[in-house]
Amino acid sequence: MKPSPFSVEDALSEIKRLVLRHHSFVLLEHQKPDGDCVGSGLALVQALQSLGKQALLVSHDPHPAVYDFLPGKEFHTRAQYIEPEDFHADVAIFIDCTDPSRAGKGLDLAGDSVWVNIDHHVSNSGFGDVSLVCPQAAATGEIIYRLLGTLDVPITKEIATCLYVAIATDTGGFRYQNTTRATFEIAGALTGYGANPWELAELIFETRSVSSVLLLGKALNTLRVSRGGKLATVAVTRDMMAQAGASPDETEGIVSYPRSISGVEVSLFFREMEDGSGFHVSLRSRSKVDVSMIAVRLGGGGHPRAAGALVAGTLEEATQKVLAILDELDIWTDS
Ligand code: 5GP
Ligand code: MN
Repeated sequence: MKPSPFSVEDALSEIKRLVLRHHSFVLLEHQKPDGDCVGSGLALVQALQSLGKQALLVSHDPHPAVYDFLPGKEFHTRAQYIEPEDFHADVAIFIDCTDPSRAGKGLDLAGDSVWVNIDHHVSNSGFGDVSLVCPQAAATGEIIYRLLGTLDVPITKEIATCLYVAIATDTGGFRYQNTTRATFEIAGALTGYGANPWELAELIFETRSVSSVLLLGKALNTLRVSRGGKLATVAVTRDMMAQAGASPDETEGIVSYPRSISGVEVSLFFREMEDGSGFHVSLRSRSKVDVSMIAVRLGGGGHPRAAGALVAGTLEEATQKVLAILDELDIWTDS
């Protein structure tokens, strides 16, 4: 991560100044938004609306259907429905994006706005006129919670619900290594503001479509374990998605199955791109390997235990590219 010229406190007050001074805001999500991105975006858009601001949440891809229950959908649209020539916002806020290109088509709407970068990825490039990047935060939702405190925004049940989902999803239900005391304190406060842990856990972790379960079955059939039992790989092709009747966003969570195998340190999940140009690889590690470094070398990014990148070529070629980098690191021998 490039050192940010802003301390967290400076960045928070700078964003407060921008909010006081400006009227229109566009919030940009990353491509294939996850629960943290969607929840953080919907929370901030509703917070800005409650301050009387004009605020719109924009994404390159459609919102995953699993998050349809989140409040604030009316303030969200897809970038493809907006003509950049007819659009201007005073401030563009990038949510959970390691670099501006992660916003995809949304980036065209940022134009000459003031750019604000709110993220928690260790691989964040430090871009933007104001950069609020906290790698120690388990989720961007934690940072938005702090920002709402700085902005003195009342936390409604709707905002609390969105932030709770952001944090619960990026911590895998408060189980991953990124979960800290602060995570529980914030989640506890959000519960006090009306977020319902059981109801939300039920909706995010215990509710699946038939097509996603059928696809999971197909994906698990591709399982390969190698490198002395420390590497597990699964893949999903466009054909498999078509056969299961599943959309790309229904692949979320598949990568955690290979990682859960006893003895596995790194798991890889390859998902074929819709245009057939290559594969998105999701990398996960159990406790030692910093997969964000591997993703960065592939042109992607992420966190030490969860990262991703786009890799061109056939499944065989993409797999070889990732394995070549992994094999360079001395991670398969016991230390
Ligand atoms: P996932 O594997 O669930 O798609 O993503 C895991 C983590 O890596 C997330 O924090 C996500 O933002 C990041 N990530 C996934 N794919 C990419 C990518 O293509 N580029 C970058 N920069 N980050 C990615
Ligand atoms: Mn996140």
